[in-house]
Amino acid sequence: MTANPKEQQIQLAATDETYRKLLDLAREASKKSYCPYSEFPVGSAVLSKDGSIFSGCNVENASYGGTICAERTVLVKAISEGCREFAAMAVFCEKAHYAWPCGACRQFISEFGADIEIITEAADGALQILKISELLPHMFGPSDLKR
Ligand SMILES: [Zn+2]
Repeated sequence: MTANPKEQQIQLAATDETYRKLLDLAREASKKSYCPYSEFPVGSAVLSKDGSIFSGCNVENASYGGTICAERTVLVKAISEGCREFAAMAVFCEKAHYAWPCGACRQFISEFGADIEIITEAADGALQILKISELLPHMFGPSDLKR
């Protein structure tokens, strides 16, 4: 089977430089975080397979349950602009050693592909990159509803 040319392009683009760019955008987005309750500012940036990049932050709410994490903010922004396929997502929080997505976000991200790479950074600049399928093994997804 011949690989989709668009996928090849993204694989070539998914370099350390791309990861650093996504992390830089996530870091910038974290500065806009609305987190008066947790004081845990998180930023995220997602790379769509068409090359588009969206960034966003967590937005808390006095009801607590109305809070939305940065990862879901960026996916809602991207999906509402017509993007459905994603290659990578960076997550940054200056207060976290590594800022991995919470369980709710892992489920939300996995809806759009098991191979999405999640990138996060330690305070010393070391990167960790894991696919969402590694962060959420045995994930429940759209295909489970078709059985
Ligand atoms: Zn979350």
